[in-house]
Amino acid sequence: MSVGATIAFAVARRWGKPLAARLAGDVEYARMERLSAERGAQLIVITRALPVLAEASVLVLGATQLTWRRFLPAMLLSNLGLSLAYAIFGAYSRGRCANRRTAGVDHAPAARGRRGESALADFVRGHRRRAITMTRAEFDRESQFVGCLLGLALGDALGAPFEGRPTDVVRRTLGNSATIWDRLPPGALTYTDDTQMAIGIAETLIECGGIQQETLCRHFADNYRPQRGYGAGAKKILQAILDGEDHRHLAKNLFPGGSIGNGAAMRVAPLGLFFANDYDRLWQQARESALPTHTHPSAIEGAQLMALAAALAARERPLEREAYFASLIARCEAAAYAGALRRASQISDPRDLCLFGNGVDAASSVVTAIACFALTPESFEDTVANAILQGGDTDTLAAMAGAICGAHLSAKALPEALLARLEDGHQGRTFLVELAVQLSRAKSRVSSN
Ligand SMILES: [Mg+2]
Repeated sequence: MSVGATIAFAVARRWGKPLAARLAGDVEYARMERLSAERGAQLIVITRALPVLAEASVLVLGATQLTWRRFLPAMLLSNLGLSLAYAIFGAYSRGRCANRRTAGVDHAPAARGRRGESALADFVRGHRRRAITMTRAEFDRESQFVGCLLGLALGDALGAPFEGRPTDVVRRTLGNSATIWDRLPPGALTYTDDTQMAIGIAETLIECGGIQQETLCRHFADNYRPQRGYGAGAKKILQAILDGEDHRHLAKNLFPGGSIGNGAAMRVAPLGLFFANDYDRLWQQARESALPTHTHPSAIEGAQLMALAAALAARERPLEREAYFASLIARCEAAAYAGALRRASQISDPRDLCLFGNGVDAASSVVTAIACFALTPESFEDTVANAILQGGDTDTLAAMAGAICGAHLSAKALPEALLARLEDGHQGRTFLVELAVQLSRAKSRVSSN
């Protein structure tokens, strides 16, 4: 083989396939979706066989010792053919997937084949295989969904051991944001009800493309694990759903006027990303997601603000603090939220975070979590550390702050050493990564409708 042909072959291998895949747009998305389709194997075989056939043809051409002047056009035609084939099959697959937009959640990838560490490492260490076969926008969006869901779970699990402890006790134990990571209890990090219920939100969005309360309640009930630290009110409502009773009566009357807790806000951040390009729909859908358990206006608005905070954080990089808070304040209905957000926009010292509360009610925790993020938006560790150091409802404060920051920074910015300690059994970190990827793809389906 001539020197020119060898160089051309190397160029084809290095840039030919990624270029062809990018031309096809979301062929990788289509391929993964097809894994769960009845006749998916045929397409997978074809899309995998094409690059092999193209390379084999290049090798055969090289072996015939054509001069490089003849070889180069042949190689270019080969890659052009490959690009066209990818584009045709990508378009074909997109059409097939669009027809399947009501398909349910496929949990099989988590259970099948890939071990948790490799699934996580794909994202946290650059996710190279997917990166070359997806468009940049798709890759970025998946990374944000993974960052949001893993950030929520990690914050939740990191804050859980200190839930309910007074601020001074937490600070005596953990010190400050520089010393906290050396003073955490050792062992696996286990998440609580915050993450467990966020999973139900994500599953509902994947299944329905929006919040349908009946489906949401079914997922909440299916995922219900009492040992995850659910509040007393949530336990009663979820048990009522499991028993087939009318839970709506309980949601309204368990507390006078409905619960004012942060239970609707703690689980809603992935919904914010899902509707990040339509804030009116986001506001309405966040309300729908709250209603099965929270009917008080303060709890509902807390959830709406949390969803919007995650959506805005995902869209703005770097964060423009003033514009970020202005967008949140513009949506506020309650003067208490607007006033707290206005004060939060002006602080510059973590010691001022105590102004916004650390309680289990939405009004004294949602703005705190947003303020923690806005103070240190480029550091997941500092954001979560400041949330935990507030004491009180530490798991939910850190879950909310972690979810917003994860959406803002994407998966690769989450600390690997801490992620490695996050539980990886049933519905653990591997499941969360796969769930986030499916959620991102469900968003693509809904957006293309
Ligand atoms: Mg909790």
